[in-house]
Amino acid sequence: MKTMQAAQLTEIGKPLQVVDVPIPEPGPGEILVKVRAAGICSSDIHYQDGRSKVTKLPITLGHEISGEVAVCGENVKRLNKGDRVSLFYLETCGECMMCNTGNDNYCSEAKMLGKDIDGGFAEYVVVPARNAFPFPESIPFSQAALITDAVATPFHALKRAKIQTGESVLVLGIGGLGIHAVQIAKIMGAGQVIAMDLADDKLELALKAGATAAINPKRGNAEDKVASITGGKGVNVAVELIGLTTAIRQAINFTGIGGRTVVVGICPEEVALNPYHDLLLRERTIMGSADQCRADFPVIIELAAQKRLDLTYSVSHELPLDKVNTGLEMLKKKDENLVRIVVTFP
Ligand SMILES: [Zn+2]
Ligand SMILES: [Zn+2]
Repeated sequence: MKTMQAAQLTEIGKPLQVVDVPIPEPGPGEILVKVRAAGICSSDIHYQDGRSKVTKLPITLGHEISGEVAVCGENVKRLNKGDRVSLFYLETCGECMMCNTGNDNYCSEAKMLGKDIDGGFAEYVVVPARNAFPFPESIPFSQAALITDAVATPFHALKRAKIQTGESVLVLGIGGLGIHAVQIAKIMGAGQVIAMDLADDKLELALKAGATAAINPKRGNAEDKVASITGGKGVNVAVELIGLTTAIRQAINFTGIGGRTVVVGICPEEVALNPYHDLLLRERTIMGSADQCRADFPVIIELAAQKRLDLTYSVSHELPLDKVNTGLEMLKKKDENLVRIVVTFP
């Protein structure tokens, strides 16, 4: 039996273990992918510390994956060995009402790579062929890995906000997702794109990525700054990517009449809301956005291929598999100049 290396979570609260496991075999309709890059996401920290639950132990983490098709199982027609592919991380049934109406992120049977089934912190991974989206050689593997989550998640969130040409967008939290939210908002036609974060280095990066203004709430009253940038109107759209009650409250407060707040950050705590002042008086909307859909992939790949979406500074660190715990620690400590850490494979 041929084996491969995989970084597995074996016990909640413990570092991942790099172990030898059998190389999985693709069944009918499935492909074996040689992983070339797998991004480290904040969710991986939550799986490790138990804040989000994985459904089995041990489990190979890693859900932001790109690689090359190594073996095509029976009945796989659309893909060939050697194709460069980026992987949609939800394995869905393809038959339920949600799958059939383009809401496959709500498939009742969905299983997530690196959470419910073994993921991409391994040399190989097996997925259904329909989870694989080919991308051109002009996109490096490390960037293509990010498409699957760090780009697709804010893309889906901003799509839900239905940005109109020239509208203002506030992005709260400039991490691995926020830096892409800034660019995507611009591509979707936003006028002002305001980046907000407590770290100045993140704000600098957001300005480089095309943000028209940057606000650090540690340096003065953020509400006043938003008011002065928007001529007192407040923003049309606020997207919260941190998962903090204070940031969610700011996102709501800083939207104007008809404003839409999209909550993406994972926040299990309650947030105070005055329905009269917060909603009715300004006809505001507060919505959630979870994961992404299959349909988001071809659009994002096209934007990256056309260089409309610039992912060149999205990968701040590349590490080999045996340094995956170092990467998780760096992300926990929120090291300076950290955007996305990607585990890469030769
Ligand atoms: Zn993630
Ligand atoms: Zn389904």
